[in-house]
Amino acid sequence: MQIPTEPIGSIPRPLYLLDAMKGAGNGKISPEQLQAATHKALRETIELLEATGSPVITDGEQSKPSFATYPVHGCSNIAPGGVTIPFADGHTRQLPQLTAGPFRYGTFASSYVKAAISLTKTPIKQAVISASALSLLYPQEGIPSYSQEQFLADLISEAAKDIRGCLEAGAANVQIDFTEGRLAIKLDPSLKLLEQFVDLNNRVLERFSEDERLRIGVHSCPGGDHDSTHSADIDYDELLPRLFQLKATNFYIQLASERDRPQVLGLVRANLGSKQRIFVGVTDPINPRLETAEEVCSRVLEAAEFIPLHQLGTTDDCGFSPFGDDVSTSRELAFLKIRARVSGTALAVERLQ
Ligand SMILES: [Zn+2]
Repeated sequence: MQIPTEPIGSIPRPLYLLDAMKGAGNGKISPEQLQAATHKALRETIELLEATGSPVITDGEQSKPSFATYPVHGCSNIAPGGVTIPFADGHTRQLPQLTAGPFRYGTFASSYVKAAISLTKTPIKQAVISASALSLLYPQEGIPSYSQEQFLADLISEAAKDIRGCLEAGAANVQIDFTEGRLAIKLDPSLKLLEQFVDLNNRVLERFSEDERLRIGVHSCPGGDHDSTHSADIDYDELLPRLFQLKATNFYIQLASERDRPQVLGLVRANLGSKQRIFVGVTDPINPRLETAEEVCSRVLEAAEFIPLHQLGTTDDCGFSPFGDDVSTSRELAFLKIRARVSGTALAVERLQ
């Protein structure tokens, strides 16, 4: 018996890479120097992730500017001033906005897969941003001669192309980051926005066969940035029934930091489809305290009381640095937490035999 265990995606970037990104931004270092720093960080991160024993790893998102905006990085029809997301500690993140059509990705996540796969034999998982998150780029006042309907049609094609490119490049699986799912309930308690988001993402997922969807998953969390969250105060009871309507196989949900884990696990059991698999968060990237393997093990055993073992996996509650410049968690702590996840999950497997 095995319980699969996977990371979410990001690992804090080393300071030399953040400095190189800043230097490239203000013209102080050349694109070649930035590329060298990025490659070094990627190689080091993959080696350190391999050393954790995680059977599936990521590229640590070392060259992703952020989990949400990589597709428009460098695009010329994008400007600052989009939707602002407030976090519980008072800080905000503002999305850019689209200024003209047509909407096309400037960067596809398959480029990250190709770079990572050349450096490791360990299966690589790739996270992509959801179509629903990118739908927020379209300005409220509209764009003359580029309707929202045209934008959404382009967005669905591009998002599907992003996922397909990762699968074709050899990613073991692809995870759609859907952190705005829980936020949608906060922004619109009538649940209409969440339902629109689910519909939009399903229009992307419907472009894949059932076989392909075995390798496609969705991550849900209350947002993690600078050790704070944007929607942890929203209960799972309204989110989960709609989340599992997404036509994906794997679901990666934040659970370690939930106040009442058994209640959430009961909701998962009630709503999880028979062909779906749930990866429960057993480590909390936001909490500076390192979990012990024993603690992780007891969280897995707790989940196993609710979820059939063939549908259970483990993960971290979130990425360790979804926005590239977030250094609130050290790299050392991130790798230690991943080790705890891997060894705690293995311990649980032993006890469940
Ligand atoms: Zn997350």
